[in-house]
Amino acid sequence: MLKTRPDRPGPANIEETVIQLEMREGEQAAGVIVKVNGPVVTAEGLPGAHMYDVVRVGEGHLVGEVIGLERGRAVIQVYEETGGVAPGEPVATTGLPLSVELGPGLMGAIYDGIQRPLDLIRAQVGDFIVRGVEEPALDREKTWEFMPRTEVSARVGPGDVLGVIQETEAVEHRILVPQDISGRVGEIRSGALRIEETVAVIEGEGGERREIGMMRRWPVRAGRPYARKVPPAVPLISGQRVIDTFFPVAKGGTACIPGPFGSGKTVVQHQLSKWSDAEIIVYVGCGERGNEMTDVLKEFPHLTDPRTGLPLMQRTVLIANTSNMPVAAREASVYTGITIAEYYRDMGYDVALMADSTSRWAEAMREISGRLEEMPGEEGYPAYLGTRVASFYERAGRVQCLGTEAREGTITVIGAVSPPGGDLSEPVVQNTLRTVSVFWSLEANLAYQRHFPAISWLRSYSLYLEQLGDYFSEEIGEGFLVDRGRAMEILQKEDELQEIVRLIGIDALSQEEWLLLQTARSLREDFLHQNAFDDVDTYSSLGKQALMLRLILLAHDSSLKRLEAGEPMERLMDDPVRERIARVKYVPEEEFAEAYKAIAEEILRGTDQPAAGG
Ligand code: ADP
Repeated sequence: MLKTRPDRPGPANIEETVIQLEMREGEQAAGVIVKVNGPVVTAEGLPGAHMYDVVRVGEGHLVGEVIGLERGRAVIQVYEETGGVAPGEPVATTGLPLSVELGPGLMGAIYDGIQRPLDLIRAQVGDFIVRGVEEPALDREKTWEFMPRTEVSARVGPGDVLGVIQETEAVEHRILVPQDISGRVGEIRSGALRIEETVAVIEGEGGERREIGMMRRWPVRAGRPYARKVPPAVPLISGQRVIDTFFPVAKGGTACIPGPFGSGKTVVQHQLSKWSDAEIIVYVGCGERGNEMTDVLKEFPHLTDPRTGLPLMQRTVLIANTSNMPVAAREASVYTGITIAEYYRDMGYDVALMADSTSRWAEAMREISGRLEEMPGEEGYPAYLGTRVASFYERAGRVQCLGTEAREGTITVIGAVSPPGGDLSEPVVQNTLRTVSVFWSLEANLAYQRHFPAISWLRSYSLYLEQLGDYFSEEIGEGFLVDRGRAMEILQKEDELQEIVRLIGIDALSQEEWLLLQTARSLREDFLHQNAFDDVDTYSSLGKQALMLRLILLAHDSSLKRLEAGEPMERLMDDPVRERIARVKYVPEEEFAEAYKAIAEEILRGTDQPAAGG
C-alpha cells in the first residue's frame, strides 16, 4: 500500500509531513479506473480518498487530484496526458493534498505546473516530458551555508527566524519556525547543511522535541498563515510612467492587464519583472501558446537585474506551463506560483507574481467542468469561475507576518488576460475586473500606432490612488497628485475635442481648446510614450516622472498666458522649448534636476516677456 497517514494532515502539520508518492513494487493499489474522459478520470474503490487528495493514476503513475467524490466514485483531474490510460488500471491515493516544496533552491528554478524542475526533467528524458516522471522540486544533495539567527534556550514561536541562507547573491533566504511549533531552542546548528538535515531542535512545553529542517511542504490550495492583513499604502514602483503616475498598483495590490496579440503584453511584463521594486518575482506562464512560453524561458535567464547587475533569475522563479501540457496542470501552476509567493512574503519580502495568462486557466476550468457535465454558466464557463478567480487574487496583499519581529511582506498579483478578439465584456475579463483594483487596458490600436506602452489612458484605472495619496505627497510633494489630476483631465478633454474636430473640423475650436490639444499631444508623446528599448527611457524614477509632468503643465500654463496676452498661436508652437520638453525623457536621472531647472526657467522667461522676442 501507499504510505498514507491515518490521521489526515491538515495545514496544521503539513509543513512537517514527508510525502511518499511512489507506489512500491508489488504493492496493490486500492482503486480501479472505470472511466477516462480526457484529463478527467473516474475511479472506484478509493475509500480513504478525500477531496483534493493527490492520487497516482494508472500503470504510468500519473499525478492527479481528486475533484469530486460521489457514490463510492472518485473523480480525478489528471495533470499529465491521459492518452492510453484505460479502465481497469490501478489508482492509489497518497492521502495528501497537492503540495509544493518550499525551501532554498527555489530562486532561479524553472518548474512545470506541478513543480517538477524542467531542466532536470529535460536532462533525464529529453525535450518532451515523459509521464509519471518524478524529480524532487528541491535538490536534496546540495548543501547550503546555514547561519543561525537565534541561540540555544531562546523562546521561539511560529514565524520566528531560526537562521538565514544566502540563497543567491540577490536573496537572503530566511528559515522560519513552522506555524504549529513553539518552545525553546534545544539545539541550533550552523554551516553547510542539506535541506532535509536538521538545523534546529525546538523543545515544547511538554518536553517534546521537534527537529526542524530547511524544507517545508504546503498544500497549494490553502493560503499560508500570517498575523493580519494591512491595507496597502506604498506603490510598486515600476519606472513606467503610465503605470506609476497614472494607474499605480500598490505593493500588495492586484492588477489585471488584458493583452491582445502584439499589444506589448510581454514587454510590459518584462519591464515589470526587471524594474519594479519587488524583491522576488514569481512568473507563472499558464498555458500560453508554446512559443511565447519558450520566449520567456529563453529570455529570462539572460535578463540582468538593472539595479544589481546580477542575473534577474537570482530573484525569480519561473513556472512554465505551455499549451501542449494538459489543461488541468494550468490550474496547478497558478496555485503553485501563489504558494511560493506566500512563502517569500512570510520572510518579509515584497513579491510580485505575474500570471500569464489567467484566461488559459479559466479555459481549463471550462473544459474540466464540461467533462464533469456541470451546469454551465456564462459562455460555458463554470458558475464558480468568479469565486475561483477571486480566491486566487485574494491571496495577494500586504501582511504583518507571523513572528515576534514586526515583519511585513507583500504579494502583488498582476494577471494577464487574453480575451478573444480583445472583447472586454467576456466572462474572464469581467470576473477579473470585479476582483482586481487596477486595470491596465492594453489596446491594439495604440500598438498599431506604435504608441508604447499601449496602455489606454482613457479606459484604464487604479483604485489605489487615494490609499497611495499620502505616500505620493510625502515622497514627491503635494503638487504631484494635483498635476496628475490635471493631466488626466486634459487627456479626457482631448478625447471630447477630437470628436468635435471629426464632426465639424478644427476651425470649430477656440484658441484655448487648440492649445489644450497641443498639451494633450505632449502628454501622450513626451510623457506616456516610453521606449522600453532605450537605455535611459526604459526607466523613470518617480521623481523624474513628477518633474516631467510639471514641465508639460508649466508650458501649458505659460502658453495660455501668452495667448491671453495676444501672442499668436504659431509662435507659441514654434517655441524651441517644446522640443526640449520632448527630449527631456532621454536625460539620465543624474543630470535630470539640472535639465529640469534650465527648461523651467526658459518657460518662465517666456511668460515674463511675452512680446519681447517679437
Ligand atoms: P504581445 O506579447 O502582446 O504579443 P509584445 O510584448 O511582444 O506583444 O510586443 C510586440 C512588439 O511591440 C515588440 O516586439 C516591440 O517591438 C513593441 N513594443 C511593445 N512595447 C514596447 C515598448 N514599451 N517600447 C518599445 N516597443 C515596444
